Amino acid sequence: MKEGQRLTTMINDLLDLEKIESGKMEWHFQMVSSAEIIQQAATSTASLLDGKPISLQLDVPAGISPVYGDPDKLKQVVINLISNAVKFTHQGTITIRARQRDQEIVFNVLDEGIGIAPQDQELVFEKFQQVGDSLIGKPQGTGLGLAISKEIIEHHQGRIWLESEPGKGSCFSFSVPIYTDQDEKAETTDVPLIEISET
Ligand code: ADP
Repeated sequence: MKEGQRLTTMINDLLDLEKIESGKMEWHFQMVSSAEIIQQAATSTASLLDGKPISLQLDVPAGISPVYGDPDKLKQVVINLISNAVKFTHQGTITIRARQRDQEIVFNVLDEGIGIAPQDQELVFEKFQQVGDSLIGKPQGTGLGLAISKEIIEHHQGRIWLESEPGKGSCFSFSVPIYTDQDEKAETTDVPLIEISET
């Protein structure tokens, strides 16, 4: 990334974080197709793979339940996880997977990259934390992507976590509640109710 571009990305990331933390971020919650989140994130990151010995594989069962969330924000999380997977993988396969577990969809982004040491695994979700080999040479990102992703997922009442083995790869996962009839009611109650009084 060029320095100017890195600065712009960092400023935008900081503004995003500030908006979420201060409760000023606008959220558009609705029924969202779990498969579309993944497909669209894969499409918009496809160019990152150009010329690299990395392939992207999607593993999403047909008919998987939709989730209740903000489509753009959820896509932003998957895009961030794929970009990281590409950044920290020299060669191999990146797999994006979705599965239903009870009342949630669990999304995974698996890579065969450099991995993250056990002592660094909690740190990566904190602001400005760049760990391991990424400290060697020029910084490749802003260190804010995972902090923003965590805020987004927690706003969806979900969880985000990772499993990783140095030298083998990483698996970043997050969960989002599936869409239910209750959510539909929550959406429609945004419309102010008109009280009808009998005369
Ligand atoms: P950025 O990628 O902009 O540095 P992030 O918040 O997205 O910031 O990631 C923080 C740090 O976590 C990265 O700098 C890197 O050290 C580590 N990291 C994130 N994803 C991966 C991954 N898939 N494999 C190895 N390290 C990773």
